[in-house]
Amino acid sequence: MAIDLTNAIFHDEEKARAFFEEQRWLNGPICPFCGNPEAVKPLAGKSMGPGWFHCGACRDKFTVRVGTVMERSHVPLHKWALAFRIMASSKKGVSAHQLHRMLGTGSYRTAWIMAMRIREAMAPDMDVAGPIGGEGKTLESDETYVGGKAKNAHRSKPIPKKHAVHALVERDGEVRAKHIANVTAKTLRETIQTAKADLSSILNTDAASANVAPGQDFSDYAMVNHAAGEYVKDDGKTHTQSVESFFALLKRGVYGSFHAVSEQHLQRYVDEAAFKWNNRIKLGIDDTMRANAAIKGADGKRLTYRRPDRETAS
Ligand SMILES: [Zn+2]
Repeated sequence: MAIDLTNAIFHDEEKARAFFEEQRWLNGPICPFCGNPEAVKPLAGKSMGPGWFHCGACRDKFTVRVGTVMERSHVPLHKWALAFRIMASSKKGVSAHQLHRMLGTGSYRTAWIMAMRIREAMAPDMDVAGPIGGEGKTLESDETYVGGKAKNAHRSKPIPKKHAVHALVERDGEVRAKHIANVTAKTLRETIQTAKADLSSILNTDAASANVAPGQDFSDYAMVNHAAGEYVKDDGKTHTQSVESFFALLKRGVYGSFHAVSEQHLQRYVDEAAFKWNNRIKLGIDDTMRANAAIKGADGKRLTYRRPDRETAS
């Protein structure tokens, strides 16, 4: 992880604020309450502090934090800028303990909340997401199980439960991934639908029987039989290697830094892995671009967390 710590946005609050404003509002501030870009004016009053705007249309006031995952945070923006950059650059994922040390935030809990909010910023907005796949394109669908590693469980506690994660990967393209309660033909079909799979695609899966019914929805469907040692069919193009690579990335993040991820928060870690896959270097996206993409995703998302997860020290 190479981060240019001399960059002023990581230590100068005014520079950091200007940076966040530029990332969010390339063409000038837009009111987060009414969406009006016309009537927005900076508030000059000393009592307000810097960074406030007033909207003449709805008469409300706001800063660049309002309507984002940073809204309720008291952490300075230059620490947020660094946190976004650290999390976007890390291949293996960063634990809240590491983030706490690197940012020098007041408490572990603060760092944990920041990490969770950045994961939320990384989550896709499925309301605006287009379809995945298409005619002549191949989608790979598969499931994996996260958690339940006995060696990571504390001796006095039961072995954590395993939780299913489904992923749909367009070969050489993006991934849509979701924690699912159980793996049945019904849940797979629903999940593939929610992921906005284009049914004119070719679907590849392994030979698990739950895949057969959703496979029929696609224009073409082929499976590889992993149990029989078959990983690529003789046609040379039927396999699930892309989705398996994604699961490897997900597991590096979960087991590398987090040890125990509770079911309640698993989707956040899945979102982080999917974001990194969809903004990978192979697609021409470097660390800075990836951090900026996460910052853009912070817009319109607000979350509150009451308690830290069962994340153990590392
Ligand atoms: Zn307004």
